[in-house]
Amino acid sequence: MNIEDFIRDIPDFPKPGILFKDITPLLANHKALVRCADQLAQCYSGDVKIDKVIGIEARGFILGGMLAERLEAGFIPVRKKGKLPYEVRSKSYGLEYGTDTLEIHADAIKEGDNILIHDDVLATGGTAKAVSDLVKELGGVVVQFNFIMELGFLHGRDKLDAPIASLLEY
Ligand code: AMP
Repeated sequence: MNIEDFIRDIPDFPKPGILFKDITPLLANHKALVRCADQLAQCYSGDVKIDKVIGIEARGFILGGMLAERLEAGFIPVRKKGKLPYEVRSKSYGLEYGTDTLEIHADAIKEGDNILIHDDVLATGGTAKAVSDLVKELGGVVVQFNFIMELGFLHGRDKLDAPIASLLEY
C-alpha cells in the first residue's frame, strides 16, 4: 500500500493556479490512515523524548493526534485567530495576499518542553515558521517539523531551523 495513492489532486482550489493536495481519501481508508500515522511516528527516532505534538488547524489535528498517541506525547492545537477560549499568544504571518494569524494557549507549553510540529502540507513554510516562533516565545524547543507532504518547489524548508521530515515530496 502506497500513501501517495490516497492523496487526491484538485486543480484550481481554493483559487486558480493552486493544485490542492486533498488528504480526505487517506483519512477515509483505515489501513492508509494507520500506515500514514505509523510512518510519521517512525520519522522521529531522536533520543529526546517528545513532550507535546502540535497540530495546526485543521488538517494537522487528525494525524497530529495519532502521532501524539504513538509518541506517548500530549497534543496541542494551534488554531486560527479567535477560536481558542483561554489566554492566547498570537503570531501573524504573510500570505500571498494579506496576512493570517495563528494562536496557541499561553499555558500550552512549559519552559524546556520538547515539541514536534505537525501539519499535512509544507508549502511556502510561513505557517510552520509562525508556529515555531510561538513555541520559542513560550520557552519550548522545536525538535522536529513533521509533514505528510512537502511541495519542494516552494522551498518552505528554507524558513525552518529544525530537522524536517516529510513522507512525500512533490
Ligand atoms: P504554507 O504556510 O505556505 O507552508 O502553507 C501551509 C498550510 O497551507 C498548511 O496548513 C496546508 O494545509 C495548506 N496548504 C498550502 N498549500 C496547499 C496545497 N497545495 N494543498 C493543500 N494544502 C495546502
